[in-house]
Amino acid sequence: MRKFRIVVLTIFVILIGGCSNLRGTKLLVPEHFGLIKIDQDLYIEDGVDEATKEKLIDTITKSEEKILSAYGSVQSHPIVHACITEECYSSLGGMGSTAKVYGNHILLSPRGLNWHFLAHEWSHAEIRTRLTFGAWRRLPQWFDEGLAVAISEAPEHSEAHWRFLIASNVQRPTREELLTYKSLRQWLDAVHRYGETQNMARKANGEPEVRPVYSAAGHEVRPWLSKYGGHGLIEMINRLNNGEDFEAVYNSANQVRVDD
Ligand SMILES: [Zn+2]
Repeated sequence: MRKFRIVVLTIFVILIGGCSNLRGTKLLVPEHFGLIKIDQDLYIEDGVDEATKEKLIDTITKSEEKILSAYGSVQSHPIVHACITEECYSSLGGMGSTAKVYGNHILLSPRGLNWHFLAHEWSHAEIRTRLTFGAWRRLPQWFDEGLAVAISEAPEHSEAHWRFLIASNVQRPTREELLTYKSLRQWLDAVHRYGETQNMARKANGEPEVRPVYSAAGHEVRPWLSKYGGHGLIEMINRLNNGEDFEAVYNSANQVRVDD
């Protein structure tokens, strides 16, 4: 059974992101890679202190509440893997990011041990659970990310950050450009192009971090979600599962939008 799960997850990570994500298959046997089980769906790197353990359990509770309030119920039950060192995180495939989701497995870096990052990845897991595979493949990356940004309320991707980018004249995608980021590859290329992968260097130089692409997606989806709420989201998921095109569903619902 374990071998079967490893094969399924391996195929999944190849479909979503290529060979670098193959390290994520280690999450199926976390005890072999320095993580210990501390709760039913929670693994933490060995050596963690009690305070961090408690904080993580609270983090899971708060993240689940956010998913519940956005979707109306929670259908996904991801297994959370938390690293307390960067070495652990990169060895499990997390290079260059703060948190990642592999199917039903969420991996958190030491920088991502808070409910904002967990709720973000959990939103990806929740919508994937609710969509058929075909509908999930047709869901544009910008919407998946924008929804995760809106639900997770991360200060890094907030409306305040969006206004800071405008005030600082930082380059950011137009709405028209954002809506072209349909595949994961297009999304990652834009994240790289707009410099979001350079934030560690900015921080080291004492410069402010910038997240123009994630913030643009949040800026697009946040008003949609606050207008249509959980009912609108479930309606969208049902229509996508019934074979409708994303653009038709989004545009028919998206009559009101808050501009810059
Ligand atoms: Zn994401």
